[in-house]
Amino acid sequence: MNLQTTHRLRGVAVGAAVGDALGMPLEFGLASPPAKLIRDMHAGRLPAGTFTDDTEMALALAESLLAQRMLDPQDVTARFLDWYKRQPPDVGIHTTNVLESIELGETWQTAAVTVQKRYPDSAGNGSVMRSWPVALMCWHDEGALNAWSRMQSQVTHAHEECIASSAFINSMIAQMINGKSPLDAYQYALTLVEMPEGLRQTIRLAPRRKREELRNTGWVRHTVESALWGLLNTDTFEDALVSVINLGADADTAGAVVGALAGAAYGLEAIPEAWKTMLRGEWPLQSGAIWRLPDFITLADHLAGCLTTDAAKSFKSQDQAA
Ligand SMILES: [Mg+2]
Repeated sequence: MNLQTTHRLRGVAVGAAVGDALGMPLEFGLASPPAKLIRDMHAGRLPAGTFTDDTEMALALAESLLAQRMLDPQDVTARFLDWYKRQPPDVGIHTTNVLESIELGETWQTAAVTVQKRYPDSAGNGSVMRSWPVALMCWHDEGALNAWSRMQSQVTHAHEECIASSAFINSMIAQMINGKSPLDAYQYALTLVEMPEGLRQTIRLAPRRKREELRNTGWVRHTVESALWGLLNTDTFEDALVSVINLGADADTAGAVVGALAGAAYGLEAIPEAWKTMLRGEWPLQSGAIWRLPDFITLADHLAGCLTTDAAKSFKSQDQAA
């Protein structure tokens, strides 16, 4: 693995967490005036530099991938439930509904589907925000990348647009890790990833949107739209993140998604030092342990070397059985 690839892989993990932490104080707010964009880590409901549920759920997923050396939905569910029981400061509504029914005894196979039937229009950004660890594990295996990106969504978010968004964003991340430009990765993922037509239209139009058209709510389409708009209309890591977190509303989640994308595009070295130094968060929750930059780097290195020939083979046999 060359040095540039290592920087890109590490950039995804650190970029996602940095984007989450930068967006944290702006969550639920209005868009910042264009002349007064926030460019630094600020305190919000948590101290400056602290990541939130977006990164916590990604860490739970990442630890499952490392322990199982594959995407095991049962193990992912157990780890999400363990996280949920530790009373995280914020949890999405849809995620709460699904994890509550699992806690009451439903299996992961039925919980997400049952909640989706109850709220058929619910298509939140709660699975795309945490999906990047799959891209770090499967950056060199397109089949596993697509199948496991989708599966990690199905554990809580069964809506077809949530599933396809996770596959699309992870496909772009993997392409950029492999050296494609953001624009080439975007065009490639658009031809490669199967998705509902409405989502495809949103993705097609995203780069040409005007800032004032972006709503940046918790709807998965809005998050993907903001992240693509930010990535494809800037040419540095810093500008991509600043443009997106200042949209307000679901700023931390859009920040996490554009952070993973821009981290893959520009690599760890391109992430501002001040942001990297301030990055922090308790993990596991209620353990007293604080995660910082070196922990994200180690995690990225482990995930990137984790997909063994055996795991890839077991994916292929699952695939044939399906
Ligand atoms: Mg959050």
